[in-house]
Amino acid sequence: MAGIWIIAENREQTLELLRIGGELSTKTGTRLSVFLSQDRERARDYIECGADEVFILPPLTEDQSLDAYIPRIIVEAQQDVPDLILIPATARGKDMAARIAARIDTGLCSSCMALTFDDNHASFVMERLAYGGAAVQKVVCTTRPAMATIPPRTYEPADAVKGRQGQIINLPAHSPSTVKILEKKVKERESKDITESRLLVCVGRGVEKKEDVALARQLADVLHGELACTRPIAEEYHWLAEELCIGLSGAQVEPDLYLGLGVSGQVQHVTGFRNAKVIAAVNKDENAPIFKAADFGIVGDLYDVVPKLIAELKK
Ligand SMILES: Cc1cc2nc3c(=O)[nH]c(=O)nc-3n(C[C@H](O)[C@H](O)[C@H](O)COP(=O)(O)OP(=O)(O)OC[C@H]3O[C@@H](n4cnc5c(N)ncnc54)[C@H](O)[C@@H]3O)c2cc1C
Repeated sequence: MAGIWIIAENREQTLELLRIGGELSTKTGTRLSVFLSQDRERARDYIECGADEVFILPPLTEDQSLDAYIPRIIVEAQQDVPDLILIPATARGKDMAARIAARIDTGLCSSCMALTFDDNHASFVMERLAYGGAAVQKVVCTTRPAMATIPPRTYEPADAVKGRQGQIINLPAHSPSTVKILEKKVKERESKDITESRLLVCVGRGVEKKEDVALARQLADVLHGELACTRPIAEEYHWLAEELCIGLSGAQVEPDLYLGLGVSGQVQHVTGFRNAKVIAAVNKDENAPIFKAADFGIVGDLYDVVPKLIAELKK
């Protein structure tokens, strides 16, 4: 095999992709490469975490975005033809992956949840959710390079092995991009980024009035977590910001704990948190679908249960 490439925006994403990239490259005896912007210190860190080689891209100027790296990556991919290119399934990553795939004329498995290869290592076998999370689609890629975007937190970060050796290779400057940044503005957020939260308390339509959301917020506070919601709470009632909505048309989250309060657990919602480490729910209907996804469930009225939980947790 000619190698596995990782192209990510930051250290956290790179280490997660080094975990799956490392597993695949060890099994197939291929090399694992990471693309990185300028930082040689970071390159040594990635080598200790499993990279065999790190390609250093030249620094960007003020008016350039990450897009400026795409032509260089394409040239390298056309010369070296890697077996697999892994990119995080973030907004920017997905955009970059689609553009690279189109330019090197290969397929792309978007938001891939599982990745392996067939017995003789000829094809990559990738899995992703389809039909709003109701089905798992298996994508078999027989050509090279295969490409996949992988949602953040799908894999644990790779571990470092002190003193591990690898190569650092400087790549030549890229051709000037036709896209120039004229101005940068910080996006105003009404709330915290729930994709970053380790603990989420999710409000569903079982909460009767806007004022009662405060009860869920109290629980989130004692747990040192953040508040999230189902789509009706954000889009129909406008009680919480749309960016707090979890699901198919909302955010994909992978917290350590998801706790649903008065959430029925329809597939379009569950698909957004099914990779949470622990799923818990409070619902007064014992047949609510959320209990099928939950590790722990309390059948009860949230107006009775939540104050008791808060009181217990405060002790
Ligand atoms: C194309 C498409 C995309 C969609 N995308 C999303 C998405 O991204 N995210 C999303 O969330 N939804 C999405 N939906 C909507 C989704 O199908 C559900 O309608 C929605 O998730 C239901 O929200 P809910 O659980 O808050 O409300 P409900 O389904 O009304 O459930 C309320 C639950 O609260 C329980 N309850 C009521 N009172 C109490 C109480 N006092 N104590 C305890 N439990 C109580 C009830 O038993 C019930 O189970 C999408 C739908 C479509 C068609």
